[in-house]
Amino acid sequence: MNHPHRRNFLATTGIAAASMLTLPGSSPAAEFTLPPLPYPADALEPHIDAKTMEIHHDKHHKTYVDNLNKAVAGTPMAGKPIEDILKNAESIPEDKRAAIVNNGGGHYNHTMFWQIMAKPGSSKISEDLLKAWGSDGDSLKKAVKDAALARFGSGWSWVVWVPKEKKISVASTANQDCPLMFGWFPILGLDVWEHAYYLKYQNKRADYIDAWWNVVNWDAVQSRLKIGMKM
Ligand code: MN
Repeated sequence: MNHPHRRNFLATTGIAAASMLTLPGSSPAAEFTLPPLPYPADALEPHIDAKTMEIHHDKHHKTYVDNLNKAVAGTPMAGKPIEDILKNAESIPEDKRAAIVNNGGGHYNHTMFWQIMAKPGSSKISEDLLKAWGSDGDSLKKAVKDAALARFGSGWSWVVWVPKEKKISVASTANQDCPLMFGWFPILGLDVWEHAYYLKYQNKRADYIDAWWNVVNWDAVQSRLKIGMKM
């Protein structure tokens, strides 16, 4: 088949783009890679300490990426975007499903988590988000906090866009379950695994959550809301 558009695309974007294309019978699928933090590890001080960020990103997130690559190898999921894998989790071969969901969710959730944080006080909650929520920012934060505190053990608290209902909602998930698995698009996600806060806050999850609001990147949250609202 002749694909003039594809040929032009490759001609203008070069070898890096070409190596990302995975065609049947061609070179092996690209592996998942650990994205760098979008800011220095100490950028979120004093609310989230540098040591926690280093371990969380360099060790925990890296382990999810490494184990995801091992889990997808040799399955029909190899080479697929992580979003597609999680949205179709029920089609993952049963013997690999837990490993791919746990590590794939871990990879997606953390990639988003780094992006929706920024140095303290660098942005404020958007009017679009408040309008979608239908109340003030304090009530949204309280809903996310309540969901986070009600999550027994490890998990996440979320603001998600629900495409079927064309509205946002607050929810929590267990372990590394990702909102994409439930047909939702995550707008904001708060990691409430102990590894996210234990060095600085020990058992005081509520104190961590209260401090975390200082480092939310509301501009990134707004960008995700706009993506969600088109779904
Ligand atoms: Mn985490």
